[in-house]
Formats: sequence, structure tokens, C-alpha cells
Amino acid sequence: MRDFKQITDFIKDTFPGNNHIPLHAPVFNGNEKKYVIETIDSTFVSSVGAFVNKFEEMMCEITGAKFAIAIVNGTSALHLSLILAGVEESDEVLSQSLTFIATCNAISYLKATPVFIDIDRDTLGMSPFALADFLKQNIELRKDGFAYNKQTNKRVKACIPMHTFGFPCRVKEIAELCAAYNIVLIEDAAESIGSYYLEKHTGLFGLMGTFSFNGNKTVTCGGGGAIITNSAEIAAKAKHLSTQAKVPHPWSFIHDEIGFNYRMPNINAAMACAQLEQLHDFVDNKRKLAKLYADFFDTIDIQYVKEISDSKANYWLNTILFDTKEERDAFLEFANANGVMSRPVWQLMHTLPMFNTSFNTDLSNSIWIADRLVNIPSSVRS
Ligand SMILES: *Cc1c(COP(=O)(O)O)cnc(C)c1O
Repeated sequence: MRDFKQITDFIKDTFPGNNHIPLHAPVFNGNEKKYVIETIDSTFVSSVGAFVNKFEEMMCEITGAKFAIAIVNGTSALHLSLILAGVEESDEVLSQSLTFIATCNAISYLKATPVFIDIDRDTLGMSPFALADFLKQNIELRKDGFAYNKQTNKRVKACIPMHTFGFPCRVKEIAELCAAYNIVLIEDAAESIGSYYLEKHTGLFGLMGTFSFNGNKTVTCGGGGAIITNSAEIAAKAKHLSTQAKVPHPWSFIHDEIGFNYRMPNINAAMACAQLEQLHDFVDNKRKLAKLYADFFDTIDIQYVKEISDSKANYWLNTILFDTKEERDAFLEFANANGVMSRPVWQLMHTLPMFNTSFNTDLSNSIWIADRLVNIPSSVRS
């Protein structure tokens, strides 16, 4: 057995003064209070207000997207993106088994079914190699111009890779494959604000990218989300559908289709703006922590997950891999009992009762990683 105490001691030294070290605690040292009070003083706390617009401008500036749409949370951003991608009942949507449940819930809201593509062991995200194999073996382009799964006879309309823990996956290669098969690419970039692949911000490789600003994410506003896109048409539709499909009019209530109440409230946008002002510092801080971890785990010969070349990760959650599941479980027991919060990855989606009848694909890397992976404390340090 390894010396687990050596690991927890290092983490305690890295986060001094904490009896219980959380996995990821938010930090509110910027303009959060000031901006939130401004919204209260102005009475504009709901979905119309200056901060919602400012938030969208900041998201464009940060990511380089032409358009950003403020959404109430990341799950709703995924739901709306799938609608805008044209996903319909009984379509298939390609995604990962190793992801947070929200990705697959959003697919299910449309009565579509997820098909799980394996991940790469180094990025922890969708593998373009596994995707290429899947497409070659199972997919044909039919006369209507769409990709169909020959085994299930279902249309494959969209693909949602996820940038796990802020590590960019090989999304340019995935984008090329999707384009060849007329499959709409949506990136679940919920965890990867401030992460880049080939110097392009994650979320910009397909038609849409979605973000989350939930309490545990790198940037948080309590609850919040966003869609980014370079398509003016998609941006206009996203804003329309997220605001109950209300047609602009000085006084009348006209709605021209079924919409959603998915726009981010101004009070949340105020917090989001204050947090985004600090994004650069947060990511810097997290990358310094990542370097400390990387050097330490090198000396004790534990595999520490690093960004791949050509990418820049925000290191939202630091990740180590043990040799076996037994060793992983023993570490989780020890660390959590000793004030160092540590977590395994989510239960794989294809093993959950809602998704365990999904189309069978080889998921050996997902299973291998899920057995060994542990996330360790990763908050921005003061
Ligand atoms: C957090 C998260 C979401 C959902 O975001 P919410 O804002 O909590 O709805 C979606 N996908 C992934 C991968 C996430 O980590």
C-alpha cells in the first residue's frame, strides 16, 4: 500500500488553516457584493437588466465568440442548444459515458437517446479515434443528407463532447468528423471556462458551446449558464426561445412559438460579471496549484493528469489516477476521513438505469479511468 498520509499531508500544507479542505470552494473577493447591491438598488433583479447584457459582452470578449446568450443554468443551455441543433424525438445524440448527468438529461428532455463514445485516457474527453471507428462501422449518410445508425435505424443528429474537469478534448478532430457526417457539434464546456485547444477557447469548435456557472465551477454566480456561437441566426433564436419566445413590442404580449423561461436573472449576472473579471487570476492561481501537484505526484510516482500539448487547461479539478480500484477506494476512505475532501468520477452513464439499454459501444477507456480516478482539492488559494 502507498503512504496515503504523505498525500493528505501535502494537500493540508497546500491549503493551510483548513480543518476540512473542500473539493472546490468559491472565492468572492472582487466586485460581487458591489454589483449585487447595485441590482437591488436599481430594482432590476430579474431577467432584464444591464448586467445580463454586460455578462454576454464579457463572455464574447473572453472566449472570442461572436455571440453569447445568458442562460439560467448549464443544463438549460444544453437543452436549448439541442433544440437549436434540430434534435427531435427518437434521434440519437453522441456523447460520453464519463460525463455529468446533465449532459444526458438534456438529451432525454427531447426524447432522444444518447450513444456513448469512449474517451481518450489522456484528455478524459471524447476520443476522435473512438468516434471515427463508431462512424465508420455504424453510420451511413442517407438521401435526406443525414447520418443514420445502420443498427438502430435512428438518425444521429448531434454530438456533445465534454471537456472533463477543464481538460480540453481533441475537439478539432471531433469537429472534422462531425462535419463529414452532417452531425451538429455542441460542446459541453460547462467545466472549461478559460480552457483552450489549439489556442481557440473551448466551446467554439462546433455550432454552439455551453457553460455552467454553478456553485462548484471555476466561475460561479450561484446558478447560471451560457451558450456561445458564431452564428447570428442561432444567437437570435437562442435569445428568443430563452425569453418565452416573446416578440419585441412596446406594450403587447405576443409569443410566436413555445418558448422557455431560461434567461439568467440580472442578480445572478451581476455576480457572474464580478467573477469573470477575475477569471484570468483564477486560472493563473489554479495553474500554479496544478504545477505544485504535478511536481509532488511525480516524486511519489502517482499518475497526475496533465493538459495535452496544444491545449491549455483551467485545471478546474485536479485529478490523479491510482493503479487499481481497490487502491482508489482505500485512498477515498482515508482522505475523506482525514479532512481532505476527495471524490471519484461520476458513475458512468451507461450503467445508470435510464441509459443502460443504450446502443452498445466499446467503453473500455471510460471504465478503466472511472475505476482509478480521484479528484483532489482544487479551490483558488488565497
Ligand atoms: C455542471 C455541469 C453541467 C450543468 O450545469 P448546471 O449549471 O449545474 O445546470 C453540465 N455538464 C457538465 C459537464 C457539468 O459539469
